[in-house]
Amino acid sequence: MQITRIVIHQYEIPLKEPFITALRPIPALERVLVEVETDTGLIGLGEGAPAYEVTGETQGSTAAVLADVLAPFIIEENPLAIERHVRRMRALVDGAPSAHAALEIALQDLRGKAAEQPLYRLLGGNAEKPSLTVPKVLSIKSPDEMATDAVTAVDEGYTQLKIKLGRDPETDVARVTAIAEAVPDEVSLKADANQGWGDAKTAIEALTGMAHHLHVIEQPVAKENVSDLVFLRNHLDIPVMPDESVETATDALKLIKRGAGDVFNIKLMKTGGITEAIRLNAVAEADNRPTQLGSMVEGNVGTAAGIHFAAAFENVVWNEMVGPFMTTEGITDLDINTPQIETSGPGLGVTVDKTALRSLRSERIELES
Ligand SMILES: [Mg+2]
Repeated sequence: MQITRIVIHQYEIPLKEPFITALRPIPALERVLVEVETDTGLIGLGEGAPAYEVTGETQGSTAAVLADVLAPFIIEENPLAIERHVRRMRALVDGAPSAHAALEIALQDLRGKAAEQPLYRLLGGNAEKPSLTVPKVLSIKSPDEMATDAVTAVDEGYTQLKIKLGRDPETDVARVTAIAEAVPDEVSLKADANQGWGDAKTAIEALTGMAHHLHVIEQPVAKENVSDLVFLRNHLDIPVMPDESVETATDALKLIKRGAGDVFNIKLMKTGGITEAIRLNAVAEADNRPTQLGSMVEGNVGTAAGIHFAAAFENVVWNEMVGPFMTTEGITDLDINTPQIETSGPGLGVTVDKTALRSLRSERIELES
């Protein structure tokens, strides 16, 4: 099998409402879709979900790295030599994880399609089927508004809520308290400060009033504040989950050596694809730390990749593949039934609806052998 053509689409997906975290408000998703065509007729799909506040990438920079460097580099190659391609592409382009992820996901999709197997079975095959139950992510708003959003989510069938925090500790305590009082006890509450509390002193101020409501606290302090992450791990009764602090397997190993982090938040858009995510998960598991498969609010193709990664490994205990629930329209046949998502078929198990793609604001670049 040989790669004959690569098409790169830059497209914008409207959100039902702006997504607000401590990092920035996001009005719409700017995503990059990659189609890797082969001489067998099989087409692999991949997606890049750049987030400049996390990895320094934009939609334009992701598409440019793909079009100028990575795609020409692997055209005419056998798409199934994934390990070799991933290593050589990393040697060629440092950083740019969303661009790397988009292309590797497309190669992994082809791997599954060539084998006529759903990808998660080839990666590890832990789950019965490629499906995930996702939490509802609550944007930062006033305590009352967030409590109302929480009740609406529970009415819609969600059993897990992820609360975005990270402004002033006093209001954050009021937010969590209002939500905890508004929903049934059996609803699982997680919180993510997105580095917003900065240091351990501020984080302790916030967490003292809310930790008893939470199952986990994610990235409470600035990403480089590893000693504060260690302090919090030693002084809290709930698990601490680094996110921005851990992009690669090497980051995870460094945190483990320092004694930081109970659970690691893996994102395919930080690791630069599935190969590095497998390494990160293995490093974490080697020291008895579970992982979560987190989301950069991917569109449907990136979400499908997340489903297969999470379904492949037992050590991936949570997921947050919430993108398709936040957008007004998808461009694939991903099966969405709140709060569950499922794929079916070989590879990623999704196909792109070209009419739906054309209806979104999009641009395309084509490279041929
Ligand atoms: Mg996070």
